[in-house]
Amino acid sequence: MNKISGIAASAGIAVARAFILEHPDYTITKTAVQDAEAEVAKLNDALAKSKAELQVIKERTLAELGEKKAEIFESHLLILDDPELINPVADKIREESVNADYALNEVAGQFIEMFENMKSAYLQERAADMRDVTKRVLNHLLGIHYVSPAEISEEVIVIALDLTPSDTAQLNRKFVKGFTTNIGGRTSHSAIMARSLEIPAVVGTKDILSRVKSGDLIIVDGLNGDVLINPSEAEVAEYTKMQEAYDLQIAEWKKLRDEPTVSADGKHVELAANIGTPNDVNGVIENGGEGVGLYRTEFLYMGRDKLPSEEIQYNAYRTVIENMKGKPVVVRTLDIGGDKELPYLDLPKEMNPFLGFRAIRLCLDRQDIFRTQLRALLRASAHGDLRIMFPMIATLGEFRAARDLLLEEKEKLRGEGHEVSDSIQLGIMVEIPSTAVLADQFAKEVDFFSIGTNDLIQYTMAADRMNERVSYLYQPYNPAILRLIKIVIDAAHAEGKWTGMCGEMAGDSTAIPLLLGLGLDEFSMSATSILPARSQISKLSAADMKELAAKALQMGTAEEVAALVHSINA
Ligand code: PEP
Ligand code: MG
Repeated sequence: MNKISGIAASAGIAVARAFILEHPDYTITKTAVQDAEAEVAKLNDALAKSKAELQVIKERTLAELGEKKAEIFESHLLILDDPELINPVADKIREESVNADYALNEVAGQFIEMFENMKSAYLQERAADMRDVTKRVLNHLLGIHYVSPAEISEEVIVIALDLTPSDTAQLNRKFVKGFTTNIGGRTSHSAIMARSLEIPAVVGTKDILSRVKSGDLIIVDGLNGDVLINPSEAEVAEYTKMQEAYDLQIAEWKKLRDEPTVSADGKHVELAANIGTPNDVNGVIENGGEGVGLYRTEFLYMGRDKLPSEEIQYNAYRTVIENMKGKPVVVRTLDIGGDKELPYLDLPKEMNPFLGFRAIRLCLDRQDIFRTQLRALLRASAHGDLRIMFPMIATLGEFRAARDLLLEEKEKLRGEGHEVSDSIQLGIMVEIPSTAVLADQFAKEVDFFSIGTNDLIQYTMAADRMNERVSYLYQPYNPAILRLIKIVIDAAHAEGKWTGMCGEMAGDSTAIPLLLGLGLDEFSMSATSILPARSQISKLSAADMKELAAKALQMGTAEEVAALVHSINA
């Protein structure tokens, strides 16, 4: 059997050769060397090989992706020629009689730290370049053969055990036609990022990695969740046809880009996008997003070796807010933990990370980290319609404590002469059942709710969102979930507040009729889901969907609810 089923994580179909992605181990130990000159020679050799490699990559990038992208590699070459970096490494080897990899890692580490603390965003970005270049030289010193996802330069399907969000962020859409992994679910963060990059993906295949060799021909069917290994010519033809039909459908949806989102009977709702990095804003605009409903700021903290400074954060938030040109931007404060780790915080491993020390729990404990983020956000608020929300709120006490820290920092900033907006809406994610049940009390104190169904479902059903063995319990249409959603929306409306949803359920075509009927005000989803959702809502009557939702709330199972929704299309 050449077909493996997994979870359809990002729509579209791709056909290309397999590229197996595995992560090298960069553990570096300090060792005393006898012959320092031999070690310096090793360093020079690694530098020369890295330069030759970069030259090739630069030329290929120039030919295939243009000047702008090739400049990155030109700047890497300049770093390798910079005596201010190279001489201190050689000096360290000679003076301390240590190994070249250790000396390079130490010296480069100091430069990275220095760049990260610079005021200008341009210089801060140089830290990432320095980190990349260092790894490249280390590959030669440590004998590691590694092609980073950013360097892939022919059309491939990436095959991996799992992809970290930072791997996913590096994938180049031009060459990476699709990806598939052993583990993960539709709401794992690599799947969420694949959707924002518009790369077809199938995750949770359990064993794809052991069944595929580098170079095998692969079809990724991100519409149905299938992967074909070495398909026949007839299969390739069949899937190519499916891809063409899907492309035509996308072209139809694109016509709705600048239209408002209105139901057939005239009810207006807002369709916003979930983003992970400032670059994602382009996709939001291209796909007709009416705002950003969730900016997951944790990606700013990942893929680096220490916390981002206030300046780094301010620049990122400001960029998003300015590029959204007055449209609302809901920024979520740091939600680290669960499947998003920060190795440099050195937190102890937990038995149940999704139930552990994550998000607001960590921020209220590590106030230094939280206050820095709040300051950056408050400063960025002067540039547009910023809304702030706290993740994983389980009690009113947590909300009040977080809000008080925000107010303290606001006062301090004003005292220091910074401009801070007076009209920042402050809300919470509702993703823990205790908060959904008590929504009437929260609604008196917050400006809005955003329902995080990715977590709300896992906590209500007690089913880990990353564990494909219990994925059958991941039931967005279960009436228990719908009742919780209704409690939240009704509680907000009773206080004249609005409710959004930023979990993946908001973009799910089976859930949309129900959510419209339950009175959801804002739907925030992967940018690529916005236009299909706008098209779907334009064909639905909100009044009819209210009746449909009322029926669904009285049902016993998710299957009955799904059948009810599908009957309206029959
Ligand atoms: C959610 O839980 O629904 C959510 C949007 O947050 P995340 O997926 O980042 O946990
Ligand atoms: Mg969540």
